[in-house]
Amino acid sequence: MNGFSSKAIHGVSLKKDIHGALRFPVYETAAFEVGTARDMELVFEGKKAAHAYSRITNPTVEDFEQKIRLLSEAFGVVAVSSGMAAITETIITLAEAGSNIVTSPFLFGNTISLFKTTLKRWGLEVRHADMTDISSLDKIIDEHTRLVFAEVITNPQLEVADFSKISAVAAGRNVPVVLDGTLTTPALFRSKDAGIAVEIISSTKYMSGGATSIGGVIIDNGVFDWRKNPSLAADAVKIGPGAFIMRLRREIHRNLGSCLSPHSAWLQSLGLETLALRIDKSSANALAVARFLESHANVRNVNYPGLSSSRFHATAKRQFNGKFSGLLTFELKSKDECFRLMDSLVMIRRATNINDNKTLVLHPASTIFADYPPSERARMQVNERLIRLSVGIEDVEDIIDDIRQGLDKL
Ligand SMILES: *Cc1c(COP(=O)(O)O)cnc(C)c1O
Repeated sequence: MNGFSSKAIHGVSLKKDIHGALRFPVYETAAFEVGTARDMELVFEGKKAAHAYSRITNPTVEDFEQKIRLLSEAFGVVAVSSGMAAITETIITLAEAGSNIVTSPFLFGNTISLFKTTLKRWGLEVRHADMTDISSLDKIIDEHTRLVFAEVITNPQLEVADFSKISAVAAGRNVPVVLDGTLTTPALFRSKDAGIAVEIISSTKYMSGGATSIGGVIIDNGVFDWRKNPSLAADAVKIGPGAFIMRLRREIHRNLGSCLSPHSAWLQSLGLETLALRIDKSSANALAVARFLESHANVRNVNYPGLSSSRFHATAKRQFNGKFSGLLTFELKSKDECFRLMDSLVMIRRATNINDNKTLVLHPASTIFADYPPSERARMQVNERLIRLSVGIEDVEDIIDDIRQGLDKL
């Protein structure tokens, strides 16, 4: 069983359900009975594997984690309550006050806020590097750098860096790379093959199977020697390659309490089964929509890594096996034109999410970037003429017809 979808559908056999249910059940319970007092002692000592309390582990959540581990051929996976929880737990596991992390200036809005405000107050320094300029990245890493953090396709710039190069530079400095792979997931990009130490994913997006629930996953690809991380070195010498996952599971995740609910884990396991189908369809739809937009007289320019006009086309094509995910942006003449187009759309919805089954449209400058001063917005390559489209899995003719009737009216 080697195919992505076969693995996503059949998963890993955990304990057989007592009724033989073919779909892994939702174990909606806070606590589990372990057996004898001695069994309980062994479980608490970590010497016997059993579920005790759902903040720490839960069978339905474990089923979801093990499917993702199988799909990414990873060392270990921890599922958490959101993409933001995945980022927070990972950074807190690997860095400490007085250390620094190196990241791109192009990041998801709440990630910027987490780094710039929340973690800064706890003494973490955040340094910025251009991820497409390997020598600048190398220069900025020093002995206090605990990790390099990047996004697989930045939003809304749609920049795609070369991740094998980034992880090679970071490895040369004994630093792990943490990648936010939300927009690709293991269905489009095998981060392990690119030497990425930890991949985090907001499973709210593609994985949830149509925006059903909020969730996140932390994937330890098993390619980084944790003895090189000062915070994990002692553990890694004692317990070996499990140091990161153990610290995460037994300390950070437990203490922060950002557990995924069994019901959300169940929905997201269901989403995983059709992930490859949906990502293929939305990628194909996005490419067709991008080509249509490029051909329309009222569109000034289109940004999509699947178009040969994108600076990142060759890198993206090589890394993502010829598919480019569902997100694109395009420019009209003015903010007024953007608003008029958006309001004339009939099927396409005005909403902030991405990688939904539904095609969603958003005006970044007046919404997710509204709090940024204009100079900062310009640095983020967001102007008032820009529209972001997250292309769904509807019939592509209907998506294009909807946009065409709006554009023709401008
Ligand atoms: C949505 C998103 C997040 C945050 O995920 P939540 O599940 O909303 O917490 C992080 N990174 C990227 C790239 C995202 O799109």
